[in-house]
Amino acid sequence: MTRIDIKSLPDSELTALLKDWNVPAFRAKQIRNWLDNGVSSFAEMNNLPLSLRKQLEEHCRIPSVKILRRLVSAIDETTKYLFELEDGHTVESVLMKYKHGWSQCLSTQVGCRMGCSFCATGIDGLARDLLPSEMIAQIEAAEADRGIRVSSIVLMGMGEPLDNYANVLRFLEMLETEGGVHIGMRHISLSTCGLVNRIYDLAERNLQITLSISLHAPNNELRRRLMPVARKWTVEELLAACKAYTDKTGRRISYEYAMIDGVNDTDACAHELVRRLKGTLCHVNLIPANSVAGKDQKRSSKTRLKAFVDILTAGGLNATVRRTLGSDINASCGQLRRQQEHGVEQIVSE
Ligand code: SAH
Ligand code: SF4
Repeated sequence: MTRIDIKSLPDSELTALLKDWNVPAFRAKQIRNWLDNGVSSFAEMNNLPLSLRKQLEEHCRIPSVKILRRLVSAIDETTKYLFELEDGHTVESVLMKYKHGWSQCLSTQVGCRMGCSFCATGIDGLARDLLPSEMIAQIEAAEADRGIRVSSIVLMGMGEPLDNYANVLRFLEMLETEGGVHIGMRHISLSTCGLVNRIYDLAERNLQITLSISLHAPNNELRRRLMPVARKWTVEELLAACKAYTDKTGRRISYEYAMIDGVNDTDACAHELVRRLKGTLCHVNLIPANSVAGKDQKRSSKTRLKAFVDILTAGGLNATVRRTLGSDINASCGQLRRQQEHGVEQIVSE
């Protein structure tokens, strides 16, 4: 029998489960408090009757994550975690310090099946989806480890969040409504390679999250070379879905564009991008591409980045080059897992 992941249950389902067991509803609140406090076993729930604790142990489980490795940037306190899940899989997460508080980049899957050519996460394909509880546990583990509160979330770690749609949606709902980690939708960004059908679904939900689209190319020919998902949906279809999202939610779209030397960073690409995006409610985020072991890609030079961003700005687009945080610890996701032995390890837990 598979045990129920109790930490992924919203209050209504937790109460319903206990009702099935003829347990009074106030116990749900007590259990929720324990879960929100990050306990990892039912034995710790010492205000519950022993019989209920035993019943919970028998039928339920509390997924948690363990810090396997932790790298702290000596430059800006950016902290990168390699978390181990209960089945031994590992995922990465990065904590970044901004003026307005701490922001955490979370993983939504172990690996990814989207196979983008420039990305480290996709190399070994998808192992499995993360559960809502495992997304929350990443936040709890980082908060407990550093003694801080995370005030914003970016779903930009390992995995494609819209390929794990139901779990990600449930996770977002839990952040909004439950008592533990509480983060408002306006402080959440979800990054996607562009699963068009899911973007429409998300628009219907009218959550106030920021949608980040990994665009990386201004036309179908180039995008198809970099991202297999572009063979399923064209740039035109993707941009139409983005427009629907903006129309429905009023939220500005953020387009991510990894600048890869000699691949997608020409003046012509910049002009084409302007033609595509001009007049839409958006912001373009240029990311100097990270090199990935086994791939011969290089990031664009500083002068190329500047020339590119200047064309976008002159064309009327709102565009910036992303600040590189944690450059001494190689803080972008998907690489620590693959390069464990090469990291600049400073602190190892346990
Ligand atoms: N799967 C989602 C979210 C995770 S990837 C997505 O693709 O959007 C997070 C971001 O990192 C995406 O914008 C992705 O395109 C980008 N990225 C992946 N590999 C990169 C690399 N080597 N250099 C720079 N950005 C990269
Ligand atoms: Fe998956 Fe995003 Fe990497 Fe593409 S860039 S392989 S969608 S994690």
